Amino acid sequence: MNDWENDWDFETVAVQSAIPRGLGESIGFPVHTAAAFQFETLEQAQSEFQFNTGLSYARLQNPTVRALEERITRLEGGQATVAVASGQAATLTAILSVCRAGDHVVATSSLFGGSTGMLNNILPLMGIKATLVENTPEAVRKAMQDNTRLVWAEMISNPAGDIADLAAFAEIAHERGAVLGIDNTCAGTGFLCRPLEFGADMVAQSLTKWAGGHGSVMGGSVTVGQGHDLSRNPIYNDGGENSLLNVRGENALAWRQRWLGAHQLGMTLAPHSAFLLAQGLETLSLRLQRESDTALALALWLERHPKVGKVSYAGLPEHPHHHLAQKYLRHGSGAVLTFEVADPADFLSRVKVLRIAPNLGDVRTLIVHPWTTTHGRIPEAARYAAGVTPNTIRMSVGLEALADLQADIEQAL
Ligand SMILES: *Cc1c(COP(=O)(O)O)cnc(C)c1O
Repeated sequence: MNDWENDWDFETVAVQSAIPRGLGESIGFPVHTAAAFQFETLEQAQSEFQFNTGLSYARLQNPTVRALEERITRLEGGQATVAVASGQAATLTAILSVCRAGDHVVATSSLFGGSTGMLNNILPLMGIKATLVENTPEAVRKAMQDNTRLVWAEMISNPAGDIADLAAFAEIAHERGAVLGIDNTCAGTGFLCRPLEFGADMVAQSLTKWAGGHGSVMGGSVTVGQGHDLSRNPIYNDGGENSLLNVRGENALAWRQRWLGAHQLGMTLAPHSAFLLAQGLETLSLRLQRESDTALALALWLERHPKVGKVSYAGLPEHPHHHLAQKYLRHGSGAVLTFEVADPADFLSRVKVLRIAPNLGDVRTLIVHPWTTTHGRIPEAARYAAGVTPNTIRMSVGLEALADLQADIEQAL
Protein backbone atom coordinates (compact mmCIF):
# COMPACT_ATOMS: atom_id res chain seq x y z
CA MET A 1 0.00 0.00 0.00
CA ASN A 2 1.26 3.51 -0.84
CA ASP A 3 1.42 6.28 1.75
CA TRP A 4 -1.11 8.50 0.02
CA GLU A 5 -3.71 5.74 0.28
CA ASN A 6 -3.80 6.26 4.05
CA ASP A 7 -5.85 9.42 3.59
CA TRP A 8 -8.49 7.85 1.39
CA ASP A 9 -12.05 7.97 2.62
CA PHE A 10 -14.43 4.99 2.64
CA GLU A 11 -15.77 5.56 -0.87
CA THR A 12 -12.29 5.65 -2.41
CA VAL A 13 -10.95 2.65 -0.49
CA ALA A 14 -14.06 0.70 -1.50
CA VAL A 15 -13.32 0.96 -5.21
CA GLN A 16 -9.52 1.46 -5.35
CA SER A 17 -7.97 -0.74 -2.67
CA ALA A 18 -6.30 -4.10 -3.30
CA ILE A 19 -6.16 -3.68 -7.09
CA PRO A 20 -2.56 -3.39 -8.30
CA ARG A 21 -1.64 -0.71 -10.84
CA GLY A 22 0.54 -1.56 -13.81
CA LEU A 23 0.69 -2.60 -17.43
CA GLY A 24 -1.80 -5.36 -18.11
CA GLU A 25 -3.08 -5.56 -14.52
CA SER A 26 -6.78 -6.31 -14.47
CA ILE A 27 -9.26 -3.66 -13.36
CA GLY A 28 -11.04 -5.61 -10.64
CA PHE A 29 -10.18 -8.91 -9.01
CA PRO A 30 -8.85 -12.03 -10.70
CA VAL A 31 -10.53 -15.15 -9.31
CA HIS A 32 -7.90 -17.71 -8.27
CA THR A 33 -9.48 -21.13 -8.09
CA ALA A 34 -6.32 -23.11 -7.25
CA ALA A 35 -6.34 -25.40 -4.22
CA ALA A 36 -2.57 -25.10 -3.72
CA PHE A 37 0.31 -22.77 -4.55
CA GLN A 38 3.84 -23.62 -5.62
CA PHE A 39 7.22 -23.42 -3.93
CA GLU A 40 10.60 -23.56 -5.61
CA THR A 41 12.65 -24.87 -2.71
CA LEU A 42 12.31 -26.95 0.43
CA GLU A 43 13.32 -23.92 2.49
CA GLN A 44 10.47 -21.82 1.09
CA ALA A 45 7.93 -24.52 1.90
CA GLN A 46 9.31 -25.02 5.39
CA SER A 47 9.27 -21.30 6.12
CA GLU A 48 5.69 -20.93 4.87
CA PHE A 49 4.48 -23.80 7.06
CA GLN A 50 6.17 -22.16 10.03
CA PHE A 51 5.16 -18.52 9.55
CA ASN A 52 2.03 -18.67 7.33
CA THR A 53 2.72 -15.30 5.72
CA GLY A 54 2.36 -16.33 2.07
CA LEU A 55 0.45 -18.93 0.12
CA SER A 56 0.51 -22.70 0.46
CA TYR A 57 -2.91 -24.33 0.52
CA ALA A 58 -6.20 -22.56 -0.26
CA ARG A 59 -7.92 -23.55 2.97
CA LEU A 60 -5.53 -21.11 4.69
CA GLN A 61 -5.09 -18.33 2.12
CA ASN A 62 -6.13 -17.57 -1.44
CA PRO A 63 -5.14 -14.47 -3.45
CA THR A 64 -8.76 -13.45 -4.21
CA VAL A 65 -9.82 -13.92 -0.59
CA ARG A 66 -6.72 -12.03 0.49
CA ALA A 67 -7.64 -9.04 -1.71
CA LEU A 68 -11.09 -8.95 -0.10
CA GLU A 69 -9.49 -9.16 3.34
CA GLU A 70 -7.17 -6.24 2.57
CA ARG A 71 -10.13 -4.15 1.41
CA ILE A 72 -12.16 -4.93 4.55
CA THR A 73 -9.20 -4.20 6.83
CA ARG A 74 -8.94 -0.74 5.34
CA LEU A 75 -12.68 -0.05 5.30
CA GLU A 76 -12.86 -0.96 9.00
CA GLY A 77 -9.61 0.80 9.88
CA GLY A 78 -8.09 -2.37 11.33
CA GLN A 79 -4.84 -4.29 11.45
CA ALA A 80 -5.81 -7.56 9.71
CA THR A 81 -8.89 -9.47 8.54
CA VAL A 82 -9.77 -13.11 8.04
CA ALA A 83 -12.68 -13.75 5.68
CA VAL A 84 -14.74 -16.90 6.25
CA ALA A 85 -17.72 -18.69 4.74
CA SER A 86 -20.55 -16.93 6.61
CA GLY A 87 -21.33 -14.42 9.32
CA GLN A 88 -21.99 -17.29 11.69
CA ALA A 89 -18.49 -18.65 10.98
CA ALA A 90 -17.10 -15.17 11.69
CA THR A 91 -18.86 -14.97 15.07
CA LEU A 92 -17.55 -18.40 16.07
CA THR A 93 -14.02 -17.49 14.96
CA ALA A 94 -14.10 -14.22 16.90
CA ILE A 95 -15.36 -15.81 20.12
CA LEU A 96 -13.03 -18.82 20.04
CA SER A 97 -10.07 -16.56 19.33
CA VAL A 98 -10.23 -15.20 22.89
CA CYS A 99 -12.13 -17.87 24.86
CA ARG A 100 -11.46 -21.46 25.86
CA ALA A 101 -13.08 -23.95 28.24
CA GLY A 102 -13.75 -22.30 31.60
CA ASP A 103 -14.01 -18.81 30.12
CA HIS A 104 -16.99 -16.45 30.11
CA VAL A 105 -18.60 -14.04 27.64
CA VAL A 106 -20.88 -11.11 28.44
CA ALA A 107 -23.17 -10.28 25.52
CA THR A 108 -26.03 -7.86 25.14
CA SER A 109 -29.31 -9.64 24.48
CA SER A 110 -30.32 -7.51 21.50
CA LEU A 111 -28.64 -9.93 19.10
CA PHE A 112 -29.28 -11.70 15.82
CA GLY A 113 -31.02 -15.04 16.59
CA GLY A 114 -28.12 -17.12 15.29
CA SER A 115 -25.71 -15.36 17.64
CA THR A 116 -28.00 -15.95 20.63
CA GLY A 117 -28.21 -19.61 19.61
CA MET A 118 -24.45 -19.92 19.38
CA LEU A 119 -23.89 -18.31 22.77
CA ASN A 120 -26.57 -20.40 24.48
CA ASN A 121 -26.18 -23.75 22.69
CA ILE A 122 -22.81 -24.14 20.99
CA LEU A 123 -20.35 -22.44 23.34
CA PRO A 124 -21.45 -24.57 26.34
CA LEU A 125 -20.43 -27.66 24.33
CA MET A 126 -16.88 -26.30 24.60
CA GLY A 127 -17.15 -25.28 28.24
CA ILE A 128 -17.58 -21.57 27.51
CA LYS A 129 -20.44 -19.80 29.31
CA ALA A 130 -22.24 -16.66 28.18
CA THR A 131 -24.38 -14.22 30.13
CA LEU A 132 -26.82 -12.21 28.02
CA VAL A 133 -27.81 -8.89 29.55
CA GLU A 134 -29.72 -5.73 28.78
CA ASN A 135 -27.94 -3.48 26.26
CA THR A 136 -26.63 -0.94 28.82
CA PRO A 137 -23.17 -0.31 30.33
CA GLU A 138 -24.59 -0.85 33.85
CA ALA A 139 -25.91 -4.31 32.98
CA VAL A 140 -22.70 -5.28 31.19
CA ARG A 141 -20.56 -4.13 34.12
CA LYS A 142 -22.65 -6.11 36.61
CA ALA A 143 -22.27 -9.31 34.60
CA MET A 144 -18.47 -9.18 34.34
CA GLN A 145 -16.57 -12.02 36.08
CA ASP A 146 -12.90 -12.72 36.70
CA ASN A 147 -12.93 -15.20 33.80
CA THR A 148 -14.77 -12.90 31.34
CA ARG A 149 -12.61 -12.63 28.22
CA LEU A 150 -15.05 -10.98 25.84
CA VAL A 151 -17.83 -8.39 25.76
CA TRP A 152 -19.97 -8.89 22.66
CA ALA A 153 -22.59 -6.59 21.14
CA GLU A 154 -24.06 -5.59 17.79
CA MET A 155 -23.21 -2.09 16.58
CA ILE A 156 -26.76 -1.62 15.30
CA SER A 157 -28.78 -4.53 16.61
CA ASN A 158 -30.85 -6.73 14.34
CA PRO A 159 -33.78 -6.15 14.45
CA ALA A 160 -34.44 -3.61 17.25
CA GLY A 161 -31.88 -1.02 16.18
CA ASP A 162 -30.20 -0.74 19.59
CA ILE A 163 -26.79 0.93 19.39
CA ALA A 164 -23.72 -0.37 21.23
CA ASP A 165 -22.22 2.21 23.59
CA LEU A 166 -18.72 1.51 22.33
CA ALA A 167 -16.71 3.79 24.61
CA ALA A 168 -18.47 2.55 27.75
CA PHE A 169 -18.33 -1.14 26.76
CA ALA A 170 -14.63 -0.85 25.83
CA GLU A 171 -13.78 0.69 29.19
CA ILE A 172 -15.64 -2.04 31.10
CA ALA A 173 -13.98 -4.82 29.07
CA HIS A 174 -10.48 -3.36 29.26
CA GLU A 175 -10.63 -2.81 33.03
CA ARG A 176 -10.91 -6.61 33.33
CA GLY A 177 -8.32 -7.49 30.71
CA ALA A 178 -11.12 -8.60 28.36
CA VAL A 179 -11.69 -7.44 24.80
CA LEU A 180 -14.68 -5.79 23.13
CA GLY A 181 -15.99 -7.58 20.04
CA ILE A 182 -18.61 -5.92 17.88
CA ASP A 183 -20.86 -7.46 15.23
CA ASN A 184 -20.77 -4.65 12.67
CA THR A 185 -23.09 -6.26 10.10
CA CYS A 186 -25.82 -3.61 10.13
CA ALA A 187 -23.29 -0.75 10.01
CA GLY A 188 -22.09 -1.97 6.61
CA THR A 189 -18.37 -2.85 6.87
CA GLY A 190 -17.40 0.48 8.41
CA PHE A 191 -19.61 2.77 6.32
CA LEU A 192 -21.99 3.84 9.11
CA CYS A 193 -19.51 3.21 11.93
CA ARG A 194 -15.96 1.97 12.48
CA PRO A 195 -16.17 0.48 15.99
CA LEU A 196 -12.38 -0.01 16.09
CA GLU A 197 -11.98 3.78 16.21
CA PHE A 198 -14.14 3.96 19.36
CA GLY A 199 -12.33 1.34 21.44
CA ALA A 200 -13.55 -2.01 20.07
CA ASP A 201 -10.79 -4.62 19.70
CA MET A 202 -12.33 -6.66 16.90
CA VAL A 203 -15.31 -6.49 14.56
CA ALA A 204 -17.03 -9.50 13.05
CA GLN A 205 -19.70 -9.31 10.42
CA SER A 206 -21.92 -11.10 8.00
CA LEU A 207 -20.77 -10.02 4.53
CA THR A 208 -23.87 -11.79 3.19
CA LYS A 209 -25.85 -8.65 3.96
CA TRP A 210 -24.60 -5.21 2.76
CA ALA A 211 -21.21 -6.27 1.38
CA GLY A 212 -22.81 -8.77 -1.00
CA GLY A 213 -25.76 -6.45 -1.32
CA HIS A 214 -27.73 -8.44 -3.86
CA GLY A 215 -28.75 -11.51 -1.88
CA SER A 216 -26.51 -13.62 -4.07
CA VAL A 217 -23.57 -14.73 -1.92
CA MET A 218 -22.60 -15.69 1.65
CA GLY A 219 -19.56 -14.68 3.64
CA GLY A 220 -18.27 -13.27 6.90
CA SER A 221 -15.17 -11.62 8.28
CA VAL A 222 -13.34 -10.78 11.48
CA THR A 223 -11.11 -7.70 11.60
CA VAL A 224 -8.65 -7.09 14.42
CA GLY A 225 -7.96 -3.54 15.57
CA GLN A 226 -4.61 -1.95 16.33
CA GLY A 227 -3.48 -1.81 19.92
CA HIS A 228 -5.62 -4.49 21.57
CA ASP A 229 -4.23 -5.88 24.83
CA LEU A 230 -4.33 -9.64 25.44
CA SER A 231 -1.64 -9.78 28.09
CA ARG A 232 -4.18 -10.82 30.75
CA ASN A 233 -5.75 -13.57 28.60
CA PRO A 234 -4.15 -16.95 29.46
CA ILE A 235 -4.57 -18.21 25.85
CA TYR A 236 -2.11 -15.51 24.83
CA ASN A 237 0.00 -15.16 27.93
CA ASP A 238 0.61 -18.13 30.21
CA GLY A 239 3.71 -16.53 31.68
CA GLY A 240 6.00 -18.82 29.71
CA GLU A 241 8.62 -18.03 27.06
CA ASN A 242 6.58 -19.65 24.32
CA SER A 243 3.32 -17.84 25.00
CA LEU A 244 1.39 -16.87 21.88
CA LEU A 245 2.07 -13.21 22.57
CA ASN A 246 5.82 -13.78 22.76
CA VAL A 247 5.90 -15.89 19.62
CA ARG A 248 3.47 -13.90 17.41
CA GLY A 249 3.75 -10.44 18.95
CA GLU A 250 1.11 -7.92 17.89
CA ASN A 251 -0.10 -10.33 15.18
CA ALA A 252 -1.10 -12.98 17.74
CA LEU A 253 -4.86 -12.34 17.63
CA ALA A 254 -5.04 -12.10 13.84
CA TRP A 255 -2.85 -15.19 13.51
CA ARG A 256 -5.07 -17.20 15.87
CA GLN A 257 -8.24 -16.14 14.05
CA ARG A 258 -6.95 -17.38 10.70
CA TRP A 259 -5.62 -20.54 12.33
CA LEU A 260 -9.02 -21.21 13.93
CA GLY A 261 -11.51 -20.08 11.30
CA ALA A 262 -9.74 -21.11 8.12
CA HIS A 263 -6.84 -23.44 8.89
CA GLN A 264 -8.33 -25.67 11.62
CA LEU A 265 -12.12 -25.35 11.36
CA GLY A 266 -12.08 -25.06 7.56
CA MET A 267 -14.79 -22.39 7.34
CA THR A 268 -12.90 -21.02 4.35
CA LEU A 269 -14.48 -18.50 1.99
CA ALA A 270 -14.69 -19.64 -1.65
CA PRO A 271 -12.74 -17.46 -4.12
CA HIS A 272 -15.77 -16.76 -6.31
CA SER A 273 -17.68 -15.59 -3.23
CA ALA A 274 -14.74 -13.35 -2.30
CA PHE A 275 -14.89 -11.82 -5.78
CA LEU A 276 -18.63 -11.09 -5.49
CA LEU A 277 -18.19 -9.62 -2.00
CA ALA A 278 -15.26 -7.41 -3.00
CA GLN A 279 -17.32 -6.16 -5.95
CA GLY A 280 -20.35 -5.60 -3.74
CA LEU A 281 -18.28 -3.43 -1.40
CA GLU A 282 -17.62 -1.08 -4.32
CA THR A 283 -21.24 0.15 -4.34
CA LEU A 284 -22.02 -0.32 -0.64
CA SER A 285 -21.78 3.39 0.22
CA LEU A 286 -24.31 4.35 -2.46
CA ARG A 287 -26.72 1.57 -1.56
CA LEU A 288 -26.62 1.93 2.20
CA GLN A 289 -26.86 5.73 2.02
CA ARG A 290 -30.00 5.52 -0.11
CA GLU A 291 -31.46 2.67 1.97
CA SER A 292 -30.86 4.58 5.21
CA ASP A 293 -32.52 7.69 3.81
CA THR A 294 -35.55 5.67 2.68
CA ALA A 295 -35.66 3.79 6.01
CA LEU A 296 -35.82 7.06 7.95
CA ALA A 297 -38.57 8.43 5.68
CA LEU A 298 -40.54 5.20 6.11
CA ALA A 299 -40.03 5.17 9.89
CA LEU A 300 -41.33 8.75 10.19
CA TRP A 301 -44.33 7.90 7.99
CA LEU A 302 -45.09 4.57 9.73
CA GLU A 303 -45.07 6.03 13.23
CA ARG A 304 -47.85 8.44 12.25
CA HIS A 305 -49.87 5.70 10.53
CA PRO A 306 -53.07 4.84 12.46
CA LYS A 307 -52.84 1.11 11.65
CA VAL A 308 -49.20 0.73 12.77
CA GLY A 309 -48.10 0.10 16.35
CA LYS A 310 -44.62 0.61 17.72
CA VAL A 311 -41.94 1.61 15.18
CA SER A 312 -38.33 0.94 16.18
CA TYR A 313 -35.51 2.74 14.35
CA ALA A 314 -32.50 4.44 15.94
CA GLY A 315 -32.89 7.38 13.56
CA LEU A 316 -36.14 8.35 15.31
CA PRO A 317 -35.66 10.89 18.14
CA GLU A 318 -37.77 8.79 20.56
CA HIS A 319 -35.69 5.62 20.09
CA PRO A 320 -33.96 4.98 23.46
CA HIS A 321 -30.57 4.83 21.72
CA HIS A 322 -31.02 7.83 19.42
CA HIS A 323 -28.31 9.74 21.30
CA LEU A 324 -25.89 6.84 20.76
CA ALA A 325 -26.76 6.76 17.05
CA GLN A 326 -25.88 10.44 16.89
CA LYS A 327 -22.64 9.83 18.75
CA TYR A 328 -21.35 6.82 16.80
CA LEU A 329 -23.04 6.64 13.39
CA ARG A 330 -22.43 8.72 10.29
CA HIS A 331 -24.49 8.91 7.07
CA GLY A 332 -27.67 7.59 8.76
CA SER A 333 -29.00 4.89 11.07
CA GLY A 334 -29.05 1.97 8.66
CA ALA A 335 -31.57 0.15 6.51
CA VAL A 336 -33.34 -2.04 9.08
CA LEU A 337 -36.46 -1.05 11.01
CA THR A 338 -39.27 -2.85 12.76
CA PHE A 339 -42.93 -1.98 13.11
CA GLU A 340 -45.92 -3.67 14.68
CA VAL A 341 -49.09 -4.59 12.83
CA ALA A 342 -52.28 -6.10 14.28
CA ASP A 343 -52.25 -9.19 12.05
CA PRO A 344 -48.79 -10.06 10.65
CA ALA A 345 -50.03 -13.10 8.68
CA ASP A 346 -52.62 -10.97 6.92
CA PHE A 347 -50.09 -8.21 6.22
CA LEU A 348 -47.56 -10.66 4.77
CA SER A 349 -50.22 -12.24 2.55
CA ARG A 350 -51.04 -8.87 0.93
CA VAL A 351 -47.67 -7.33 0.03
CA LYS A 352 -46.93 -6.97 -3.69
CA VAL A 353 -43.62 -5.06 -3.79
CA LEU A 354 -42.05 -6.09 -0.48
CA ARG A 355 -40.77 -9.65 -0.53
CA ILE A 356 -40.89 -12.09 2.35
CA ALA A 357 -37.38 -13.45 2.88
CA PRO A 358 -34.97 -13.81 5.81
CA ASN A 359 -32.11 -11.65 4.61
CA LEU A 360 -30.82 -8.11 5.14
CA GLY A 361 -28.96 -5.70 2.92
CA ASP A 362 -30.52 -6.84 -0.35
CA VAL A 363 -31.21 -4.25 -3.06
CA ARG A 364 -34.85 -5.40 -2.74
CA THR A 365 -36.93 -4.56 0.33
CA LEU A 366 -37.33 -7.74 2.38
CA ILE A 367 -39.63 -8.36 5.32
CA VAL A 368 -40.00 -11.19 7.82
CA HIS A 369 -42.04 -12.02 10.89
CA PRO A 370 -39.11 -12.57 13.31
CA TRP A 371 -41.29 -14.12 16.04
CA THR A 372 -41.98 -17.20 13.92
CA THR A 373 -38.81 -17.27 11.81
CA THR A 374 -35.42 -15.64 12.53
CA HIS A 375 -36.05 -15.55 16.29
CA GLY A 376 -38.46 -18.51 16.43
CA ARG A 377 -36.02 -20.94 18.02
CA ILE A 378 -34.92 -18.82 20.96
CA PRO A 379 -36.88 -18.58 24.25
CA GLU A 380 -39.81 -16.14 24.32
CA ALA A 381 -38.20 -13.95 26.96
CA ALA A 382 -35.08 -13.67 24.80
CA ARG A 383 -37.24 -12.68 21.82
CA TYR A 384 -38.79 -9.83 23.79
CA ALA A 385 -35.33 -8.85 25.01
CA ALA A 386 -34.19 -8.64 21.36
CA GLY A 387 -37.11 -6.30 20.60
CA VAL A 388 -39.27 -8.94 18.92
CA THR A 389 -42.99 -9.30 19.76
CA PRO A 390 -45.67 -11.45 18.07
CA ASN A 391 -46.73 -8.33 16.10
CA THR A 392 -43.27 -7.23 14.91
CA ILE A 393 -42.43 -7.01 11.22
CA ARG A 394 -38.74 -6.58 10.36
CA MET A 395 -37.96 -4.71 7.19
CA SER A 396 -34.63 -4.37 5.41
CA VAL A 397 -35.16 -1.45 3.08
CA GLY A 398 -33.90 -1.81 -0.49
CA LEU A 399 -33.45 0.55 -3.40
CA GLU A 400 -37.06 0.82 -4.65
CA ALA A 401 -38.73 4.23 -4.91
CA LEU A 402 -40.05 5.44 -1.55
CA ALA A 403 -43.52 6.12 -3.02
CA ASP A 404 -43.84 2.55 -4.31
CA LEU A 405 -42.88 1.11 -0.91
CA GLN A 406 -45.36 3.40 0.87
CA ALA A 407 -48.15 2.53 -1.55
CA ASP A 408 -47.51 -1.19 -1.06
CA ILE A 409 -47.47 -0.97 2.74
CA GLU A 410 -50.61 1.20 2.67
CA GLN A 411 -52.61 -1.28 0.60
CA ALA A 412 -51.34 -4.24 2.65
CA LEU A 413 -52.42 -2.57 5.90
C1 LIG B 1 -27.11 -12.51 9.27
C2 LIG B 1 -26.38 -12.10 10.46
C3 LIG B 1 -25.37 -12.90 11.00
C4 LIG B 1 -25.04 -14.27 10.44
O1 LIG B 1 -24.54 -14.15 9.14
P1 LIG B 1 -24.67 -15.32 8.05
O2 LIG B 1 -23.89 -14.77 6.91
O3 LIG B 1 -26.12 -15.50 7.78
O4 LIG B 1 -24.06 -16.54 8.64
C5 LIG B 1 -24.67 -12.43 12.10
N1 LIG B 1 -24.95 -11.25 12.64
C6 LIG B 1 -25.92 -10.44 12.16
C7 LIG B 1 -26.19 -9.14 12.82
C8 LIG B 1 -26.67 -10.84 11.07
O5 LIG B 1 -27.65 -10.06 10.59
